[in-house]
This record gives sequence, C-alpha cells and structure tokens, in this order.
Amino acid sequence: MNIIAIANQKGGVGKTTSTVTLAGLLAQRGQKTLMVDLDPHGSLSSYFNIDPETVEKSVFNLYQQAAAKQPLATDSIVQQTPFDNLFILPASTSLATLEKQFGGKPGMGLVLQQALKQVQESFEQVLIDCPPMLGMLMINALAACEQLIIPVQTEFLAMKGLQRMLRTMKMIERSLKKQLQYYVLPTLYDQRTRASRQCLQQMQQDYVEHITQTVIPVDTKFRDASFDGKPLSIIYPDTHGVVAYKKLLVETETRLEGHDSTTNKEASGSADGPFAREAG
Ligand code: ADP
Ligand code: MG
Repeated sequence: MNIIAIANQKGGVGKTTSTVTLAGLLAQRGQKTLMVDLDPHGSLSSYFNIDPETVEKSVFNLYQQAAAKQPLATDSIVQQTPFDNLFILPASTSLATLEKQFGGKPGMGLVLQQALKQVQESFEQVLIDCPPMLGMLMINALAACEQLIIPVQTEFLAMKGLQRMLRTMKMIERSLKKQLQYYVLPTLYDQRTRASRQCLQQMQQDYVEHITQTVIPVDTKFRDASFDGKPLSIIYPDTHGVVAYKKLLVETETRLEGHDSTTNKEASGSADGPFAREAG
C-alpha cells in the first residue's frame, strides 16, 4: 500500500483538488484507492456528497476509540464512493475539537498510521487530504505517509507559506525520526499573468531538487467537477488540468524509481512507491 499526504498549511492552494484528481486517476487505472479527509471543514467529504456536519462515522471516531483504548474500527468508517475503486474515510466537523479533547493524550499522533495498517490489504493507494493548519492531524498525516506532495499556488503569498510549511515538515520529521520524500507542486498557474510566471521561476530556482516539472494550470473545469461531485478525470479526461495531473503521476513514478535505485532505498520505504504503475 502506498500512502501519499497532500499538505500545506495554507488554504486554497489545491490540496483537495489534487487529492480528488489523483485519486480519480489511480482508481480509473484499476487500483483500489482510499482518500482520507483530515480537514475539519470536510471539503473532500462534501465533494462526494457526505455532509461533515451530520456524517455518522468519520475519522474522528478513530481518535475517540484510541483515546478510550478501544480497538480501531477503520473498516466500519470507510465508505465507497459512487465510482469504481474509489473509497473515502470522511471527516466530520468535530475534528475541529480534536486538539482540545485529546491533545494531551500520548500516542495520538500515530492513530492514522495504525488505522491504515488495518486496511493495508484492502487498498493499493491512499491519499491523505490534510487540514490547512499545523497540529495533531498534520502530524498524523506525516507520520502515516511515505511521500508528501505540497501544492503551492503560483503567487507571492503562497510562496511565503511554503517556507513555513517546509519548516513545519522538518520539525515533524525530526520528532518522528523519519525522512519524507516530498514534492513541491506549482498549482493554479496562469501563464498570462506576470505574477504567476515570476513566482514559478522563483520556485524553480529556490527548490531545484524538489519542485515538480509538472505545473498545474488554472482550469475552470475543476470548479464544474466539484459542482458535479465527480473527479474531473472522469468527466473531462482530456482537459488540460487532468492532462497535467496525469503527467504528475508519471513524473513522480519516474523520480521514485530513480530515488530507489540510487540514493536512499531505506528512507523511501516501499520499493514500489506510491505511484508505482500497476502495483501488485
Ligand atoms: P485547498 O484544499 O488547498 O484549500 P482546493 O483544492 O479546495 O484548495 O482549491 C481551492 C479552490 O480553487 C477551489 O474552488 C478549487 O475548485 C479551485 N481550484 C483548485 N485547483 C484549481 C485549478 N488548477 N484550476 C482552477 N481552479 C482550481
Ligand atoms: Mg481542502
């Protein structure tokens, strides 16, 4: 099972859009894919018509179970979406109270990792949509994942946010004693604007090693797709936004293969990697 977290402390940079689109593409390939919604706003859950205000079982239950020292019942929380091979662990708005309720309890940073272990035979791919804040949920995501995609909007303020995100990541890496393979993914790129072009150039200079060659363009069809509650790749497989995310899959797979065969086999975890083609 390959686990990828999609994180950035800044909102509106394309985390949920990246999660849905990549998950849609992987599911369409025939890989059983689980999306995890860790955002108390529950945008990902809402996308698939699950109301985070009223949802009966959500990620929140896992933390309740862990705090009460009960076994985690991950299976019973996973929901199937209307799409083949595509499943979701929904969020509920109660996740916003998590820190207050359980923040002091030991072991709460590893709950998601344990929950995903329970379903590792059931899914080939897991994508975690992270909340736009640092805290227990972000720690859970980084502890559980092998790879991290950091979407960054190609605008000045978002680049500032990236520096903060990377500092956070390094801090969590140190406390978890693990090294994540991460990608900086430029999103919402509009080549007609000078600001977008300049930001992209700057990002490519500053993050030579980690920036993806793939750039996600602005594509208004993403909004149409969220209206319809369907992954964009299913309704418009050839629109330029989807083409870019397909390219991203290929790029990360290629990079991962290179990474595994050269430097850092142990640190990268699974030799198959999260984007491995037709794994298993
Ligand atoms: P986040 O999860 O980081 O808060 P979202 O994925 O929800 O960000 O994106 C924020 C808004 O931008 C949404 O309305 C979404 O439809 C839109 N959006 C995201 N990516 C694109 C894109 N490449 N082109 C056009 N709109 C996009
Ligand atoms: Mg989101």
